[in-house]
Amino acid sequence: MKTMKAIIYKGPGEFAYEDRPVPEITDPNEVKLKSYGCAVCGTDVNIFATPQRHPSKPGIIFGHEFCGEVTEVGSNVTDLKPGDKIVIDPHGPCGYCANCLAGLPEACENVPARGVFDDGGLTEYIVIPKQFCYKVAPETKPELMGVAEPLAGCGCALEKLNVHVGDTACVLGAGPIGLMFIALLKANGCRKIIVSEPIEYRRNLALQIGATRAVNPDTEDLVAIVKEETDGLGADCAVEAVASMMADCVYLVRPHGKILQFGHDELSRPEFPVAELLKNEIEVYGGYLGKYYMRKVAKIIESGILPLDQIVTHVIPATRYQEALDLAASRQCGKIFVAIDF
Ligand SMILES: [Zn+2]
Ligand SMILES: [Zn+2]
Repeated sequence: MKTMKAIIYKGPGEFAYEDRPVPEITDPNEVKLKSYGCAVCGTDVNIFATPQRHPSKPGIIFGHEFCGEVTEVGSNVTDLKPGDKIVIDPHGPCGYCANCLAGLPEACENVPARGVFDDGGLTEYIVIPKQFCYKVAPETKPELMGVAEPLAGCGCALEKLNVHVGDTACVLGAGPIGLMFIALLKANGCRKIIVSEPIEYRRNLALQIGATRAVNPDTEDLVAIVKEETDGLGADCAVEAVASMMADCVYLVRPHGKILQFGHDELSRPEFPVAELLKNEIEVYGGYLGKYYMRKVAKIIESGILPLDQIVTHVIPATRYQEALDLAASRQCGKIFVAIDF
């Protein structure tokens, strides 16, 4: 049996390099890919954090934000061919459960959580159903393809806020997710994008990507600054990309303003100012997976309309994976792409 190297999740705080059988196509609708690699997600950082802030399953091939190149296709696959560059929906829905049939694929009851609870992309080869594969142009850089999954989640969630040209926005947190929202808000025509971020490296990156003001919440009064920047009204919308600052958002938006909770931490239980929420009739949305947005994301990535090359700040080989996790945990980075070098 042919084997390949893989990064295996072993338990809280632990991974190992192990050999696994090379997967083969067993269904005519499947596609076999050579993995280019996988971006590091905040969820990955939470999985390896102590205490652990997101669960995972020991023994799986780790990494969910992966992409690759087609090496082989099943007999029913006519629209993909060897050599095609592919971004992947790792949470591809089953299509037949009650939630899928209700048009809520992100709530699919049978969704495989590739790279978190099922085998993912930090390995050499992957076999995946064709409907979760989205082709990008041949010249697209692999490290930019790695942002497809989180960018789909962000883009899909942002549509709920119904942003218009000339709007004002506040983004809490300028980690990779916050940076993607800044880029999307800018592309949507926001005239002010005020970002709150304690790490100087990330404030600078936020300004490069399109934030109009970067606030250090440890030393500056964010609410006062947002009021000053918005004629005393508050921002039209706020995006929470930290996981613990939902309450702050209530004070940052105008009456009837919109808040999007996107920061994800399974242990976070923020207290909430109920009175301000209801008196200002604030609308609160949650956002998570990219739903039907993957097709659009493939086009966004290949088109170059977002400054993704500035959001992806590091490419680290998979043989130095610990370095990638440590850098992500240090927060002195934007998005990190882990490139397969085995
Ligand atoms: Zn992710
Ligand atoms: Zn389903």
